[in-house]
Amino acid sequence: MSSQGVRSNIWDEVESLPRPEMEKLQVERLRAGIGRVSTVVPFYKKKLIEAGITADSIRSLEDLDRLPFTTKADLRDNYPFDLLAVPMKEVIRLHASSGTTGKPTVVAYTRNDITLWSDLMARTYAAAGATADDVVHNAYGYGLFTGGLGFHYGAERLGAAVIPISGGNTKRQLMLMRDFGSTVLCCTPSYSLLIAEGAEEDGIDLRSLPLKVGLFGAEPWSERMREEIESRLGIVALNVYGLSEIIGPGVSVECTEKKGMHIFEDHFIPEIIDPITNQRLPDGEMGELVFTCVTKEALPLIRYRTRDRTRLMREKCECGRTTARMERVVGRTDDMIIVRGVNVFPSQIESVLLQAGEIEPQYEIIVDRTADHMDELDVLVEAPAQIYSDQQRLVQLEKRLSYDVQSALGITCKVKLVGPREIPRSEGKAVRVVDKRKM
Ligand code: ADP
Ligand code: ZN
Repeated sequence: MSSQGVRSNIWDEVESLPRPEMEKLQVERLRAGIGRVSTVVPFYKKKLIEAGITADSIRSLEDLDRLPFTTKADLRDNYPFDLLAVPMKEVIRLHASSGTTGKPTVVAYTRNDITLWSDLMARTYAAAGATADDVVHNAYGYGLFTGGLGFHYGAERLGAAVIPISGGNTKRQLMLMRDFGSTVLCCTPSYSLLIAEGAEEDGIDLRSLPLKVGLFGAEPWSERMREEIESRLGIVALNVYGLSEIIGPGVSVECTEKKGMHIFEDHFIPEIIDPITNQRLPDGEMGELVFTCVTKEALPLIRYRTRDRTRLMREKCECGRTTARMERVVGRTDDMIIVRGVNVFPSQIESVLLQAGEIEPQYEIIVDRTADHMDELDVLVEAPAQIYSDQQRLVQLEKRLSYDVQSALGITCKVKLVGPREIPRSEGKAVRVVDKRKM
């Protein structure tokens, strides 16, 4: 247990198991999980037979290499329920991810899955130092999106008092946050800044409220954005990661050391692969994150390709946990925009902009194609009022930012400063890229 006394909960033991013991637990669970899916999910039965794999042949984590991958396309092809490992009478909840194109991705939970999810979310809060004494302001959207109910059940499991406020109506959020004395804020990082803006408009000093920690996730964000949130809200801002296909939020979370997100490895086995060759990469190398669910009942996906890009590390953390950690996700492989043949991640542009200081962390990336079929990259960024009203400073800053982004990405790009509040805000996941080439 850490000397700071941050951790003192019933989950300490599994999160600080010596590595060989954790791996032993994972292999046992993997073997049982493969045994289950190979009999009850026709999709896996077929794939495992083709690959000549039986549960008994799983001896170590190296055997993961022999297992087939599962992709988002597999979920679509089996829409809505063909990958379920239990009959519908055992399912007690369905969720679906937004699905930017076509059908959404449907996920299902048995009663045990909901219990597991609540436990993992309680562990998520505990990693942030939250306890039963806390008042949790849950501004993640309630509904088919897993954010709202995931954070809700976890807070109840922890024994905290949860305010199920959901997203939107920022003024009311601020009123209740103040009146109810919220201590933990849960929402997307971009929405936390909208709350800060609302407070600044209304003359509310968030730093004088009891709010002390925020659990932010569901979209990529940068270290610079963390600093911005921490200073404007007067809190510790921690990163939470998850995806509905695996369980929802509650796949990994930062502890208060803020050195990568601890993965709940006793339930989800992580790997990093090269997305092109599909080979497993060693710890520390950047690639695509893959998870195998070893305890879930309704939807136990094997080697699910998240398309999220990050790295893994397995050294023991200062907090005392021994679980593998993943670095901040830099973007999805399918978020990547290719501009004149160069791969560009929105998070790269965000870091450069915020590094430069002076501007608001509100931006929109617009990709278009000129009449002569050249890709064009424009970045709209909000300037604070005092800069926006000073034509000379505005022009200078635009030049400097354009130069910074161009040197970081290695392609030409125009940064255009716009006035305060001109970039559309989102109450859930921020939309950062408008690709007009596809329209
Ligand atoms: P959708 O596919 O509709 O966005 P989800 O709500 O399940 O469905 O979103 C999961 C995805 O959100 C992850 O795969 C990842 O790309 C992104 N995400 C979630 N948490 C984070 C985080 N902390 N940092 C970066 N990206 C995140
Ligand atoms: Zn830690």
